[in-house]
Amino acid sequence: MQNKMTPHIRSKIQGTGRTQQTGWDPVPQADPEAVRNLTFQQFSATNLQRCNRWHAEKPWHLADWVVAFIGEFGEACNNIKKLKRIEDGIQHIGMSEDVLHAELAREIADAFIYLDLMASAAGVDLVAAVVEKFNVVSAKYDFPERLCLPDTSNQIPE
Ligand SMILES: [Mg+2]
Repeated sequence: MQNKMTPHIRSKIQGTGRTQQTGWDPVPQADPEAVRNLTFQQFSATNLQRCNRWHAEKPWHLADWVVAFIGEFGEACNNIKKLKRIEDGIQHIGMSEDVLHAELAREIADAFIYLDLMASAAGVDLVAAVVEKFNVVSAKYDFPERLCLPDTSNQIPE
């Protein structure tokens, strides 16, 4: 696989911490408190910053981001398919349920990262779009849950 890569792509992979012989270098564990306090805006800004570093020479078209997102979402679906087979007692050869679940988390993360970059490529403020759509659906079905309203009605009911 790596022999087919262009030198441009190979150099980008080397810059990410991936090694030719061992795969991925060990990644330091994130601080759980920092994870709890991370805002979506901080994540999205860092995601876009890394993307611009990675794709500075040849930015991707929106269609490239869509395909990347769907590819990762498909990988998550494949893990769900395998977990469902285990749940249904269908013979399954391969990863254990625990490993599949851990892989599912990684694939969902991959999809989420690409979804954010897809929104950026489309010029969409993903958080603002999600808040607006969430509140539209709540209003349509008369649910009390609302996000980010300027008064006390944005409190989630107990
Ligand atoms: Mg993946």
